[in-house]
Amino acid sequence: MNKETIRHIAMVNSFNVITSRSSVEEVMEAGIGYFGHEIGGEFDSTEIRRVLKYFESLEMYEYCSELSRIINELDREMPMCECDYPLFDTYSPSEVGCLSCGNPIVKLIE
Ligand SMILES: [Zn+2]
Repeated sequence: MNKETIRHIAMVNSFNVITSRSSVEEVMEAGIGYFGHEIGGEFDSTEIRRVLKYFESLEMYEYCSELSRIINELDREMPMCECDYPLFDTYSPSEVGCLSCGNPIVKLIE
């Protein structure tokens, strides 16, 4: 198997895990534990975008539309402050919220 094929397998594995078709454990047990996204934490929409870009480059648009839908859901769940001049006066260990818009300025991932 060449590097390109391994990368492709990694992306397909990521797609299957991100879309809940299979689990990381199942992929590992099958002996092809390559992934195109960071495993072991919460999915991050930036990482899913990287997988999406890959399938875009292959023009696999059905894969892309499923991933886009998931990215949109994640972004809706996690609104972030987009103020140019955010205001805040409390510092929580997990989140610093903006007083102007009420959304987090930074979210720290455990
Ligand atoms: Zn704000």
